[in-house]
Amino acid sequence: MSGEVAVIYSDAYRGYELSPWHPMKPVRLLLTAELIRAYGLEDQGVRFLEPRPATDAELALVHDPAYVDKVRELSAPGARDAEGMGWGLGTGDNPIFERMHEASALIAGGALAAAEAIMSGKVQHAFHFGGGLHHAHRARAAGFCIYNDVALAAAWLEREHGARVLYLDFDAHHGDGVQERFYDDPRVMTVSFHESGRHLFPGSGFPGQAGEGEGKGYAVNLPLEPGTTDEIFLEAYDRLVPPLARAFAPDVIVTQNGCDAHWEDPLTHLALTVSGFRELARRQHRLAHEVCGGRWLATGGGGYQAFSVVPRAWTAHTAAMAGIELEDRLPESWRRLCAERSGVEAPRCLASDDRPPELDRAVLDRAREAAAAGVAEIERNVFPLVGAG
Ligand SMILES: [Zn+2]
Repeated sequence: MSGEVAVIYSDAYRGYELSPWHPMKPVRLLLTAELIRAYGLEDQGVRFLEPRPATDAELALVHDPAYVDKVRELSAPGARDAEGMGWGLGTGDNPIFERMHEASALIAGGALAAAEAIMSGKVQHAFHFGGGLHHAHRARAAGFCIYNDVALAAAWLEREHGARVLYLDFDAHHGDGVQERFYDDPRVMTVSFHESGRHLFPGSGFPGQAGEGEGKGYAVNLPLEPGTTDEIFLEAYDRLVPPLARAFAPDVIVTQNGCDAHWEDPLTHLALTVSGFRELARRQHRLAHEVCGGRWLATGGGGYQAFSVVPRAWTAHTAAMAGIELEDRLPESWRRLCAERSGVEAPRCLASDDRPPELDRAVLDRAREAAAAGVAEIERNVFPLVGAG
């Protein structure tokens, strides 16, 4: 089942730095690429491919050209935050920065490079871990996101290849920007597992939000409670995702694999681990081979523990895409690099030493009940609309 895997990456991705003190730290991308290399994955069927910038015509598949012009205008030296009012730019979450358009268009184009590599048959699986900017809207930046690379990849696959796209979003935040783009479109099914909008930005993503018009039933949302563990998350995955995928019969699976659902993440309240993310990746891998000939485009996303979590989670994800078992002890060369960059000791193991502290019984029960209730509501109300179950 292991085919060649492309990793779309360029050091130029680090140009997407919203500010030196912003929680989304570009160093997480460098450390991920270096850990993939340190594990020798390039000798085992994983190859790095360069991204390319998305053109204005391509960006117009998901963004208002006037918005793209505004982003470009505010990318010039001396532009002020206040000028971004009304476009979601210049805010605490999305401060403007120099060369903002160039950095964002490159990440958007990275998702297209991944889609092209898969549809040309060069590879079956591609991982664009510099992307996954799922909160960007047609004419508004939001949640650290400026251009929505992952919605762009789905729209491009639909327009250029007439593809039916199954979008799976496992970031701790609701994938609102992607859902919005395809909310009335029955050819792109969006499924998002996330921490409930009652506790977390962007405040949306409840089971009742299930699409509109012809798209009714093609938007699926599972809100989760704080303290949700690997076991609870994976059980919900098994109940919902394979039945929906088999009923929808996609041509391509596009996933957003942010790792901010991790128990150490400073911005969120879920309790997943690196081995949980690895198991989730293995399930997605099996599903892609079962329902769409292995065509799987994965992206990154959230993840605000830049040193101890993100590189481990996305390297474990890459290895799972390639069907490779990794040695649990992390390569010393990488641990030295990580310690250098973070100023603290790096983790010793990929996954075995990554366990959340004991959770309060009541918190665990509430998380388990909430997931079960959400799953049951989707099975009852959404499955019949798309012939799943
Ligand atoms: Zn997130």
